[in-house]
Amino acid sequence: SGSLTVGQFAEKLGRPSTDIIKKLMALGVMATKNQDLDKETVELLAADYGVSVEEEVVVDEASFEDEGLGIDEETAVIRPPVVTIMGHVDHGKTTLLDSIRHTKITAGEAGGITQHIGAYQVTHDGKKITFLDTPGHAAFTTMRARGAEITDITVLVVAADDGVMPQTIEAIHHARAAKVPIIVAVNKIDKPNANPDHVMQELSEQGLVPEDWGGDTIFVKISAKKGTGIDDLLEMILLVAEIEEFKANPEKLARGAVIEAQLDKGKGPVATLLIQNGTLKIGDPIVVGNTFGRVRAMVNDVGRRVKKVGPSTPVEITGLNNVPLAGDQFIVFEDEKKARQIGEIRAERALITERKETTSKVSLDDLFEK
Ligand code: GDP
Ligand code: MG
Repeated sequence: SGSLTVGQFAEKLGRPSTDIIKKLMALGVMATKNQDLDKETVELLAADYGVSVEEEVVVDEASFEDEGLGIDEETAVIRPPVVTIMGHVDHGKTTLLDSIRHTKITAGEAGGITQHIGAYQVTHDGKKITFLDTPGHAAFTTMRARGAEITDITVLVVAADDGVMPQTIEAIHHARAAKVPIIVAVNKIDKPNANPDHVMQELSEQGLVPEDWGGDTIFVKISAKKGTGIDDLLEMILLVAEIEEFKANPEKLARGAVIEAQLDKGKGPVATLLIQNGTLKIGDPIVVGNTFGRVRAMVNDVGRRVKKVGPSTPVEITGLNNVPLAGDQFIVFEDEKKARQIGEIRAERALITERKETTSKVSLDDLFEK
């Protein structure tokens, strides 16, 4: 570990290897492209090129960012889909989330007290589905602005008595920008003035053509309030998941994103994480956005303490030094020293950026409000 060849060093600097070899010759070192450089030589060279080196940590952090979630297709296995519910205000998003949670969790997990951690999991036909409980639009904008792509499927809720509205269109744009498949839930069909055909007509004009009309968009008619069509909707989510084959490697160290986080008076920083790859375990050294720590305790969406959680599972953790932001990405390291080093570099960098930002202040909200 920590070895760096002349060629790799040249690549990091964006210079030809011959440049480095010449420079080494001038320093009295004869080297080839594939030769390993020792630490002193790297420092010497770096100083010569006017760059600072932060030992191997810099190399690791770069690879962490390049690798993304580090999914290895060869050993990947199917994981549950992660679903975000979007739609115009008052079209029934919250009612639908509650309805799904109640029909599925109270039935399945006897005695489980649901607690709000920003996401929850249900089981339908023996298969799990993860729902993000945060407002869909906010989840998309803040998460994606911070580089996290956590949604696999969007359920677009449109009230059958109201039809397509501005936030309906906005939701379609978000889902398309993120290349996330859309399932339409035509809600409030229990209402006397419900007109599902009108919704289908309007959405067709937006390019979401129902299968019945020769298109490829799945439409499900539901009443979130009465619980009608919920099973159909879950079935369709699982169908899309089956087609898309969302995968992860449970045997790897965990990576994922922060769904929400806050400071708890007693517990300190508390963060809900969504595991996107690997398995998160108690005691894992972890870097989360610009902070780090060691996973002290984990609580799942029904308030139970857990020791390890796999892909697509939301979990609330404690043990971080600071409160991260929603949409921050996290990564687990084998050794705590490395997690600490990277965490410290990031915290320092964040401070510098913060100082710069206060001079030209444009917040995410300024960018995304409307
Ligand atoms: P949100 O703003 O999209 O989260 O919408 P809510 O879930 O808060 O619902 C807005 C209003 O519509 C509430 O008064 C709900 O009770 C009502 N509502 C939601 N779903 C249904 C439904 O299927 N049928 C009827 N009749 N009312 C509904
Ligand atoms: Mg709501």
